[in-house]
Amino acid sequence: MRWDAQKIADEGAGPGELELPGLSRMPGWLRTVRRPEFAGVVFHEVMAKRVLNRVPPTSGMPFEWTINPYRGCSHACTYCFARKSHTYLDFDSGRDFDSQVVVKVNAAEVVGRELAAPRWARASVAMGTNTDPYQRAEGRYRLMPGIIGALTGARTPFSILTKGTLLARDLPLLSEAAGRVQVWIGVSLALLDPELQERLEPGTPAPAARLNLVRRVREAGLDCSVMVAPVLPYLTDSDDALNGLFAELAAAGATKVSAWPLHLRPGSREWFFDWLRREHPELVVRYERLYARGSTVDRRYAGWLAERVGGLLPRHRLAPGSQTRPVTRPDESVPAEQLALL
Ligand code: SF4
Repeated sequence: MRWDAQKIADEGAGPGELELPGLSRMPGWLRTVRRPEFAGVVFHEVMAKRVLNRVPPTSGMPFEWTINPYRGCSHACTYCFARKSHTYLDFDSGRDFDSQVVVKVNAAEVVGRELAAPRWARASVAMGTNTDPYQRAEGRYRLMPGIIGALTGARTPFSILTKGTLLARDLPLLSEAAGRVQVWIGVSLALLDPELQERLEPGTPAPAARLNLVRRVREAGLDCSVMVAPVLPYLTDSDDALNGLFAELAAAGATKVSAWPLHLRPGSREWFFDWLRREHPELVVRYERLYARGSTVDRRYAGWLAERVGGLLPRHRLAPGSQTRPVTRPDESVPAEQLALL
């Protein structure tokens, strides 16, 4: 990556103190820092001009606008749907996506301004559609309280999808917001096995912690949907695995549950297959067959999974969740960064 050899500030460096030729070409770039409490992660702080992103009407998404205060995600899920979007910043879609995080430090201020525009029609805004707004960096930068406040103040309904237990910090704010606007909270959790989770999603909170987050959201008086996604063929889709997960979700009080199979867009596909070759070489040929058509899993597998989930939901008295993104995009024409991910 072309910025690897460049100098990076330690915590405490001031805006513009370091010249990073590559990054300084990024509009609004302020500085690049490492922080002692985030080993292995580099933060690129930028002043964003715009924060609200319009979703193309052809995307088939159930929302028109998104906000992504961060680009890149230290949750580092091997299958992450958004990896390719990092290449638009001249990073790679592998390790750079996990460790080079762009932070829109003025996100709350900018979104407040955008929402105050007379033309703003209070359409629904989705967060967690490209990278996780409650990834670890949020503990340091605290961008979400200001964004939630701005959306609430502008009477704008919004949704948050996350794997980050840090969302619990903002529950009082979210409860208050839900009294004024429609708020949808979704937690992404597709497996219970902590050993597999550590290999597959090394930067995420453990499954037990995410179940506890579901409980806390419900205790705060809010609905909490759970996305069981991505379901990984032969790794997380056994009867025992899915049945056990759905039982735990029901016990935690999940309001609605939906499940999707793994989707492997270019950018994530290569990275995931590298992981599979290292961790489960015995499955490589089977995955190649299942994903022979490209990003989407074989239709028969998708149908089989849908049927299984259709049986598990009533067994555990769980309501089906609404689909928040298409599982398949036949033309793949919408940029990865504008598609929701789980
Ligand atoms: S799948 Fe979500 S949580 Fe995982 S790395 Fe991607 S954006 Fe982050």
